[in-house]
Amino acid sequence: ATHAPPDKDCASITPPYARLLEKLAVVRKILGGRPLTLAEKILYSHIADPESVARGGIKRGETYLQLHPERVAMQDASAQMALLQFMSAGMARCAVPASIHCDHLIQAVDGAESDLERSIVTNKEVFDFLESAARKYGIEFWKPGSGIIHQIVLENYAAPGMLMLGTDSHTPNAGGLGMLAIGVGGADAVDALTGTPWELKAPQIVGVHLTGELNGWATPKDVILHLAGKLTVRGGTGRILEYFGPGVFNQSCTGLATIANMGAEVGATTSTFPYTPSMRGYLQATRRGPVARAADEAAAKGFLAADEGAVYDEVIEINLSELEPTINGPFTPDLATPLSKFGTFAKEQGWKDELSAALIGSCTNSSYEDMTRVADLARQAKAAGLTTKVPFLCTPGSEQIRATMERDRVTEVLQDVGATVLANACGPCIGQWKRDDKKGEENAILTSFNRNFKSRNDGNSQTMNFLASPTVVTAMAFSGKLSFNPMTDSLTLPNGAPFKFTPPVGQDLPSAGFTPGREAFYPEPVPEPQPDTQVVIKPGSQRLELLEPFTSHFSEGSGNPRGLELPSLKVLMRVRGKCTTDHISAAGPWLKYKGHLTNISENLLITAINDEGGEVNVAFDHDRDASQSETDTIPGVAKRFKARSQPWALIVDENYGEGSAREHAALQPRFYGCALIVARSFARIHETNLKKQGILPLWFADKNDYSRIGAGDVVETIGLADLLNGAPDASIKLRVIKRNGDVFEIPTRHTMSSDQLKWLRAGSALNYIRSQIQQ
Ligand code: SF4
Repeated sequence: ATHAPPDKDCASITPPYARLLEKLAVVRKILGGRPLTLAEKILYSHIADPESVARGGIKRGETYLQLHPERVAMQDASAQMALLQFMSAGMARCAVPASIHCDHLIQAVDGAESDLERSIVTNKEVFDFLESAARKYGIEFWKPGSGIIHQIVLENYAAPGMLMLGTDSHTPNAGGLGMLAIGVGGADAVDALTGTPWELKAPQIVGVHLTGELNGWATPKDVILHLAGKLTVRGGTGRILEYFGPGVFNQSCTGLATIANMGAEVGATTSTFPYTPSMRGYLQATRRGPVARAADEAAAKGFLAADEGAVYDEVIEINLSELEPTINGPFTPDLATPLSKFGTFAKEQGWKDELSAALIGSCTNSSYEDMTRVADLARQAKAAGLTTKVPFLCTPGSEQIRATMERDRVTEVLQDVGATVLANACGPCIGQWKRDDKKGEENAILTSFNRNFKSRNDGNSQTMNFLASPTVVTAMAFSGKLSFNPMTDSLTLPNGAPFKFTPPVGQDLPSAGFTPGREAFYPEPVPEPQPDTQVVIKPGSQRLELLEPFTSHFSEGSGNPRGLELPSLKVLMRVRGKCTTDHISAAGPWLKYKGHLTNISENLLITAINDEGGEVNVAFDHDRDASQSETDTIPGVAKRFKARSQPWALIVDENYGEGSAREHAALQPRFYGCALIVARSFARIHETNLKKQGILPLWFADKNDYSRIGAGDVVETIGLADLLNGAPDASIKLRVIKRNGDVFEIPTRHTMSSDQLKWLRAGSALNYIRSQIQQ
């Protein structure tokens, strides 16, 4: 049946603007009335105790802010661990509204209906667990097939000026509606769900000044692909990207969401935009007129844009009129090549001039505007008698998008030229793509997704994944060649005549309004908790396992003779180079174990490179005298250490843990007994995740020290006890005892706040929260 879903409860989704403005006024006064950026306004209006600012002021990049987010969204893979942790905190209901979205566990095989049916059967016990927990605690449950978390949040919950957390790294997508939406791990989500202030180091603010107008083939996706090339995967770390300038006001709301979505690829905390008429239009089109009216009033009071004269830590200029479509990849999202140079680039690399598949959609690019632009190309091609040369897959972002595409005959024209429409879910974007024909073979795919680490889409490390706008992806699907530039090149029709696409035109909002699609996919808004509900975990389940609290390194039962210093730690390995959360805890087939810590830990670092030997997933179990060294897999050695109750440390390279908010990448090493990770540098979310699970992250003060420590060496902290005893300026050194007996000390840096030290001392943030709730 296609009819309207239950009315939206706009009261529950409208930010409490009056209260936020009051808090902001307090902070503003303390800060001496200096002009503020938009991001600062949103952050400071969510400070738990604004008076606390008076004590030390706020320095971007230094001050820790204690914040109260208004909402939490969780996807099915990360929600399992978030909920297992929330359950062990012992609360009866969530402190803020929350939603669960079943999108990551649906595997793409042959099309929407059958894929969905099969995935519901395969993942039944996980979906049952999530649904029962949602019922018990009053969380909105978006069942499998309803859509991708970020698209649903944008359509239903996002609002200008709001602060929300999501257990997924592309949560910033909601920034398209002028808010701050931040990707976190489940343990951070538990802070918000339990009403514990959530801590964030005040980010630096990068202003991105947009002027001019996009034209021809350039789309909002190209803005962020271009910016990723400039900033690199590290350029946004510890920073919020705040866009401003006339170019912001020429974009659709969903286009802004695409730009915000991929801010995650440069490591940005999040991205945001001032409130625009297109945001108002989008709110109205998605049945949130009252939210738009409240936002209009808040904007009139100066809340939803930066103040005149606001100072940014850096300003980047982008003239949209000069922007060309861009293709990024392979294997890293910051390798940006303008479309006009891509053919030559591919040739120079010696790649076959062949595309093996084209994929559009995902949370990044499945708006109505994206789909109508793509449909325009498909119509042109169909009229000329062309069909796509390679498999062409489309994942709509939500049931509303799917149904509106179908009604407006977008789906029909895509299918006419060869598209397979998949379920409203992540599918190939997260490796849920059954693709047997290219196993182990070098091949190139083009997607409109956001991420392109090795093996991400189909598990094949030889698949080169390039990111582009949906229109470039679609046009190239008709050519099947990497060298094809639709802006200048023609295709040859069966009759030998040349055919050239005209630049595609789309529509940002449907003229007939959105149609919500099947009512069955919509949850009851603002459900009341049902405390009698039994949360379903099947006995002996291989998918779900209740969590055992981690033992504190300093508790009596830990057997640590070093008091408030970490116990002596054996170094498990030195990881070489890029080590993303995908390397630390692979996705794909492992996604099914997200709720079972013992089982998923079998994938620990299995694609990481050992700097001693250069091999992947190889580690050494050394005895101190090196007489009994044995080689094993990385999880194999970690398991040996756990079995021997040997706490251990890891030595890692630059930007360790970049990529996603995947907290398993912190839980798994902790589960096996890791107590310390020493890095040349950390990615922000992952560093916080490590702290939450009771692992101490330290930074090399001298990056050259990285190569001085190797597997089997013993490291000991010196100075941690002073820090834990309340000496805020205490520094931590490491004493390194080499396998040959040499001993030396190295300086390190840390970013532990006073609250984070409490987590470390308690063994994990959750242990600490539980102790506070019990008090
Ligand atoms: Fe899903 Fe891909 Fe979006 Fe992540 S990036 S939420 S996997 S569609």
